[in-house]
Amino acid sequence: MPELPEVENLRLGLERSIVLQKIMGVKVLKPKLVSGKGTIRIADTKKVKEFENGLTNEIFSKIERRAKNLIFRFKSGKVLLVHLKMSGQFVYKHKNNEEKVIGGHPIEISEKEIPNKHTHVTFKLNNGSLYYNDTRMFGYLLYYDSEKTFDTGRHFEFLGLEPLSKKFTLKYLVESLKKKNGKIKAVLMNQEIVTGLGNIYADETLFESKINPTRPASSLKKEEIKLLYNAIIRIIRRAIKVGGSSVATYKLLDESTGNYAREHKVYGKSKEKCPRCDEALQKTVIQTRTTVFCSNCQK
Ligand SMILES: [Zn+2]
Repeated sequence: MPELPEVENLRLGLERSIVLQKIMGVKVLKPKLVSGKGTIRIADTKKVKEFENGLTNEIFSKIERRAKNLIFRFKSGKVLLVHLKMSGQFVYKHKNNEEKVIGGHPIEISEKEIPNKHTHVTFKLNNGSLYYNDTRMFGYLLYYDSEKTFDTGRHFEFLGLEPLSKKFTLKYLVESLKKKNGKIKAVLMNQEIVTGLGNIYADETLFESKINPTRPASSLKKEEIKLLYNAIIRIIRRAIKVGGSSVATYKLLDESTGNYAREHKVYGKSKEKCPRCDEALQKTVIQTRTTVFCSNCQK
């Protein structure tokens, strides 16, 4: 699943490539993807028409990110909200093959062939094509005819702060964790306090700050929260810088691969030794997610 650093890298790549380009035509092959959110969605042909007609001739003005949502804004004020969920991906290809941007969930076939059987929405732009691919089709692309209709959807009202925003302070984190009795890993992953920490980055930040993932959030002392706060900022910033954690097939604009995976210390390493103390790493399950930690140095 793409996490915040992967989505941010995709945003950066697309922003460099498609902003100021005009959409010459749109084709939706899987109506479900543009018909709403949630697991139960009814394919709506009226929505497909609105989507295709509404976005044709529009010019991209800006691409924003909020948590793992991508918000494409157009000069006219129209908005396209996209969430990649488990397995969504964007590929942009310049018409002369001069540049290619791939980001989101790695899909092997997209490396060689585009469009392919997982391509469900195609945007023809004046200088190239933008493809939305999705293997499991949990993602969504929602069209809004104005900023006002987008805003009334209140899509982000239950989301916590962005980890790299100025508002995310140590004081805020201390105050927020005080009220939470759930396990610290679960609290970090539910996005209500801070966004962007999925399974990988929750395990990595807790390891770095020497906090046991099963501790109740409200039991953390201020000094521990300070370590956690610094770890969140350092790790998210670093992961964005090196291109995220997706495995080899993830490519940045300059063809370098997302290689924060090489820097993982505990995530996915349950049978290995702790890089800090050499004891065997432990594995447990927190809210259905495999959690790896060192019971010797994470207290
Ligand atoms: Zn250890």
